[in-house]
Amino acid sequence: MKTIGIFGSTGSIGKQTLEVIAAQKNRFTIKFLTAQSNIELLLAQAFVWHPEAVCIRDEKYYQKVKNALAGTSIQVFCGEKGLLALAQWPDTELVLTAVVGFAGLASTIAAIEHGKHVALANKETLVVAGEIITQLSHKNKVHLLPVDSEHSAIFQCLCGETMESVEKVILTASGGPFRGKDPTYLANVSKHQALKHPNWTMGQKITIDSATLMNKGLEVIEAKWLFQLKPEQIDVVIHPQSIIHSMVSFNDGSIKAQMGWPDMKLPIQYALGWPERLHNQLPRFDFGQVPHLDFEEADRSTFKNLDLAFFAMQQGGNAPCILNAANEIAVSSFLADKLSFLQMSDVIEHCLQKVTYIPSPILADYFETDKETRSIAVEFISKLNYINNKYI
Ligand code: NAD
Ligand code: MG
Repeated sequence: MKTIGIFGSTGSIGKQTLEVIAAQKNRFTIKFLTAQSNIELLLAQAFVWHPEAVCIRDEKYYQKVKNALAGTSIQVFCGEKGLLALAQWPDTELVLTAVVGFAGLASTIAAIEHGKHVALANKETLVVAGEIITQLSHKNKVHLLPVDSEHSAIFQCLCGETMESVEKVILTASGGPFRGKDPTYLANVSKHQALKHPNWTMGQKITIDSATLMNKGLEVIEAKWLFQLKPEQIDVVIHPQSIIHSMVSFNDGSIKAQMGWPDMKLPIQYALGWPERLHNQLPRFDFGQVPHLDFEEADRSTFKNLDLAFFAMQQGGNAPCILNAANEIAVSSFLADKLSFLQMSDVIEHCLQKVTYIPSPILADYFETDKETRSIAVEFISKLNYINNKYI
């Protein structure tokens, strides 16, 4: 039995992880579950899975959760302190990080420092602090196992290969709901349109990131750290069917691709089961249903976030942290109808210019940069709104 703790068990990845575990009887034990504020689902999961502990991040729900679990042996924690306590929970071999955004950074680092292997869904943590996380993983002999479908694909393509023979990795992107659209069209798209992803059902933040291509930008940086690549070794290609999850090209001109239906349960299961490949009952791919696979170049002049991410990666230092924090604020403002679709890139570009650049940050710098960026982004957005209101 592999022992597993899940950070963010009530989200899209968290729920699918529990589905994978439910289908793999007697292979995994759940040690802990955590949620931000969805106490109904956290409690329902706790009653099904009987973990040793749960943590509710929003402290105002602590008493409710505590009362509801009073008759059980489940220990209840809350807040950031609670997450840090669970990151070092005894006898937990693997933690799956499915929190969204920078918020997952401290608990991921704590888990690595305590020697837990990490199945990493929370890509933002690696974008922000990839250097520290990879160094710490190395030092603590911890495996960083990708959950993101593209990185799982690359990881699988690399089996039996050496990194010296890798020329490039090629990340595939569906192109999102606005593939082929021009800036005139995008200027007026609503959040409801942006939230309709053609191939994947995911949390709101990553769905907006997919519509702006920032998700691919974050994944480029995630790939750099996971596979220790040079920026020029990472390419992106649009593949609307999302059947090829990513590819690796080698020094003999050969390309390996990993393919299958777009279903996150597969990469989740691969990360949980690794180094074993576990049998499952998921639907098998049917070539008759997808007779064509298409590929095209990304429209980088319309979807500016992709180039902003490449720029931040090349800058290094705290630039990816600035990119991420500005994007988190931009996405939440777009979802709150305070920013238009195209203005999201303006916020990120502004922050990359204005926030203090630190070439060799230590961990504390990332927290400082995150804070500074959020405040500069909020200020910039409030000015944009003012101008927009006045103009209207
Ligand atoms: P989601 O919004 O559905 O779920 C997020 C989870 O994190 C929830 O359990 C929530 O309670 C918890 N959470 C939110 N804010 C928190 C905070 N401040 N502190 C502690 N916990 C908090 O998101 P998701 O779509 O499941 O994505 C999770 C991560 O996985 C993201 O980094 C995303 O980029 C990555 N990812 C998701 C998918 C997907 O298909 N959903 C695919 C690849 C990668
Ligand atoms: Mg992905």
